Amino acid sequence: MHTLGWIGLGHMGAPMAMNLLQAGCKVNVYNRSREKTTPLTESGATRLNSPKEIVEQSDIIFMMLSDSNAVRAVLTQENGVLAAMRPGKVVVDMSTISPEDTMSFASMVSERGGVYLDAPVSGSVGVAKAGQLVIIAGGDQQTIEICQPYFNILGKKTIYFGSSGKGSSAKLAINLLLGVIGQGIGETLVFAEKSGLDKEKVLDMISQSALNTALFQGKKDMYRNEEFPSAFMVELMSKDLGLIKAEADRMNITLPLAEATNITYRSAKENGKAKLDMAAVYLELKEKNTR
Ligand code: NAP
Repeated sequence: MHTLGWIGLGHMGAPMAMNLLQAGCKVNVYNRSREKTTPLTESGATRLNSPKEIVEQSDIIFMMLSDSNAVRAVLTQENGVLAAMRPGKVVVDMSTISPEDTMSFASMVSERGGVYLDAPVSGSVGVAKAGQLVIIAGGDQQTIEICQPYFNILGKKTIYFGSSGKGSSAKLAINLLLGVIGQGIGETLVFAEKSGLDKEKVLDMISQSALNTALFQGKKDMYRNEEFPSAFMVELMSKDLGLIKAEADRMNITLPLAEATNITYRSAKENGKAKLDMAAVYLELKEKNTR
């Protein structure tokens, strides 16, 4: 069995690393804010002091970080991942970042003899805890096969999209749908309330309809109570919609819903909702229509 390293114990990284531990894997952990490692060390993980130590003492190094800036910092900082990179090491980056940055990070790792996979995930915190994520993979296929036993612990399905960056492209594609659906539900609720309809009945109507989804059920209480404790923060959804816009511009394609959604989530972020769950875009739309 491989020794695993885990860097990034936020909303997603913590339950994912915990699942590997509970499945009996040997896991070394590092997080910038040290206190987040405690639940993992209490469950048998070994806490190390830097990304460099994680690479030195692990065969396969998983990263679950906010964005490209975080990944770049963890790779290139003093005592970062690259400082200990050598042949035989595998970096599995599960963060959602741009395809372009993915390819650049893959080159940095391969220049030092390692292999870098992009393996972002679909599914939020509850799904991560349940080990039911969808792993969206790009990079060397043989290395993905080596990692498959661990992906099987983290998720219910791995979909391989091709060379380095393709996993990141696929992740942005599904998050475009997520952002649009999130705004769609928000607009539907604002429209219904402005029409004088009872919100509880509207929530029930959606639940009973063909438009019911696991996503909607997961966030229904947030819409009901207008409280949005974060699973997937507005600021991360906004980050992804910004990446989608940049990709669309690069490919010279027009995506009207992506444009509109990008603007709404960005405004939610700027209006004090950055750390709330993405469902709070409903609140943003509601506030914009209070008059
Ligand atoms: P999060 O709770 O904000 O965690 C972010 C992690 O990145 C934390 O461990 C944080 O460390 C670390 N980090 C940020 N900047 C860093 C830096 N400069 N150097 C070192 N570490 C840094 O985010 P999350 O919700 O777990 O999401 C992680 C990734 O998964 C994101 O790319 C997100 O888009 C994606 N994703 C999220 C969900 C979801 O539902 N939440 C679902 C699918 C995919 P600290 O603890 O020190 O801040």
